Amino acid sequence: VPIANIRNFCIIAHIDHGKSTLADKLLQLTGTIQKREMKEQFLDNMDLERERGITIKLQAARMRYVLESEPYCLNLIDTPGHVDFSYEVSRSLAACEGALLVVDASQGVEAQTLANVYLALENNLEIIPVLNKIDLPGAEPDRVSRDIEEIIGLDCSDAIHCSAKEGIGITDILNAIITRIPPPKDTAGSPLRALIFDSYYDPYKGVIVYFRIVDGTIKKGDRIYFMASGKDYVADEIGVLSPNQLPVNELYSGEVGYISASIRSVADARVGDTITHFRRRAESSLPGYEEARSMVFCGLFPVDADQFPELRDALEKLQLNDAALKFEPESSSAMGFGFRCGFLGLLHMEIVQERLEREYNLTLITTAPSVVYRVNCINGDTMVGDFFDQLKSRSKGYASMEYTFVGYRESELVKLDIHINGEPVEPLATIVHKDKAYAVGRALTQKLKELIPRQMFKLPIQACIGSKVIASESLSAIRKDVLSKCYGGDITRKKKLLKKQAEGKKRMKAIGKVEVPQEAFMAVLRLE
Ligand code: GDP
Ligand code: MG
Repeated sequence: VPIANIRNFCIIAHIDHGKSTLADKLLQLTGTIQKREMKEQFLDNMDLERERGITIKLQAARMRYVLESEPYCLNLIDTPGHVDFSYEVSRSLAACEGALLVVDASQGVEAQTLANVYLALENNLEIIPVLNKIDLPGAEPDRVSRDIEEIIGLDCSDAIHCSAKEGIGITDILNAIITRIPPPKDTAGSPLRALIFDSYYDPYKGVIVYFRIVDGTIKKGDRIYFMASGKDYVADEIGVLSPNQLPVNELYSGEVGYISASIRSVADARVGDTITHFRRRAESSLPGYEEARSMVFCGLFPVDADQFPELRDALEKLQLNDAALKFEPESSSAMGFGFRCGFLGLLHMEIVQERLEREYNLTLITTAPSVVYRVNCINGDTMVGDFFDQLKSRSKGYASMEYTFVGYRESELVKLDIHINGEPVEPLATIVHKDKAYAVGRALTQKLKELIPRQMFKLPIQACIGSKVIASESLSAIRKDVLSKCYGGDITRKKKLLKKQAEGKKRMKAIGKVEVPQEAFMAVLRLE
C-alpha cells in the first residue's frame, strides 16, 4: 500500500460510550478478524479489562479496506477511557493523524469526551464526530450534535449516526476515515525516525517495542539506534499488528509496527524515545512524551515476607508495560520489606494491585493511599480525603473528576501516629488538619478496635501527636480458642473452622505479636 493510502487513527470517547464495541465492528467489517475468532471487545485483551469493561493499555490493529477498488491500510490505535490513563491517551494520539470522536447519542458530551478532544486538538488531529447508540429509544443525535458544536466548537454537519451494537453506519465511518483523515507525510527518503509509544517484556524475545515511523523506513536485520538511551541493537524481527503480531520485511514512514531485537532491559528502549539507524542517524530526536507524574502513593507489602523478591520482580515486569507505575523499596520495622509505589490515581492503584496478585500470584497488603506533602518543619489531601468518594456518591456516579497538579497549598497539618501494643505503626499514620486531629484520632482508634481481631492478651490502641496520646482504646483478650466451642464435635466441622480461619488470615500482617488485617490499613479512608 502506498503511503497515500495509509490512515492512522484512534477512537476517543467517554467511558461506556461504545468505543470497544465500535472497534470490534471495524475489525469485523474489514475482515481483520473472522467472526469465529471474534471475542467481544477484541482489543481489550487483558482479563482485567474484560471483567471491568474498561480499556487500560492502548493496543493497535492494522486493517485492510478497499474503497472504489483502491486498497487502504487503516491503523487503529486504541486508547483508554478512564481519566487515570489520560497519559496513555496522549501517547496514542501522537501516533495518529485523525480521531473518531464517539459520543453516546442518548447521553451527550461528558467530562472525558472533552478532555480527550482537547488532547486531540493539541495534536492537530482531524476529528470525525460519531453519534453512537442511535438504536436506543432515548437517542437524540441532533440535540447531542448541537451540544458538541456549542461545547466543543466542532462542526457536526457531517457527524455520522451509528449503532456499533447493531452494525449501523460502520461503512460510513470507514469511508470517512479514508476521505477525511489525511495520510501521513511521505518522508520515506529521510533518515529513520520512529517514535516508541509502547513496549512490553516477552519472556522469549525480550523487550518488544511498538512504534510509529515518522520518517524513513526500517528493514528486518537493520542495525538500529535508540537516541535517548544511546543503545544499539539489530532488528531481528519487525512486523505489524493485525492485531496479532505479523512479521514483515520492511516498514515505511507513516506505518505502525513492532520490533524485537533481543533487548534485555526496558531502560534501553523507553516509551517516548526515538529509533533511528545506527549508521545513518537522524539529526534530532522526535519530541518525546511528558513523563507521567504520580498523584497517589501507597505502600505494598507481601503478606509473606519471603515473597519480597517475587514482588520486586513482578513490579519490574509490570513497569515495562506500564510506564506510569513508579516504585521504590521501603522497609519499616512494623511492616518489614516492601515498596512505596506511585500511581496516576486510585483506579490505577487498584488495577496494579489486582494484576500483581493475579498475574504474579502474590498476596499483598496495601497501605492507605495518600498524596505528597511538602513539610516545612517547625517541629513538625488523596487528593483530599474522601473527596472523590463524596463526589461520586452525591452525584450518583455521574460526576467525574479531572486532576492536574496545581502546586502545593499551605495548610496547618499534624501527623497522627497510631500505636498498637505500644509500638508505632507507620503505615497507619496519617496527616490531618490540626482542628480535626482529635476527632480523627478517636474515630480511627475505635475503628481499629473493631477491625483487629482479639489477641491472647489485652491490646492497647492509641492515637498520638508526637508523644502526646490524644485517643486510646483497648481490645480485651480472647478467653477461649475457636475450637473449644465445637469440642467433642465432629472432625469435619473443626477442619472447616480451621480452614476458614486460615483464609481469614491470608490478608493479615504480623506487626510484632499482633496480626493486623488488610481492612485496618484502609480504615483511615472509611471514617465518617
Ligand atoms: P467503551 O467503554 O467506550 O469501550 O464502551 P463499550 O464498547 O464497552 O460499550 C459500553 C456499553 O454500551 C456496552 O454494554 C455495549 O454493549 C453498549 N453499546 C455500545 N454500542 C452500542 C450501541 O450502538 N447501541 C446500544 N444499544 N448499546 C451499545
Ligand atoms: Mg472499552
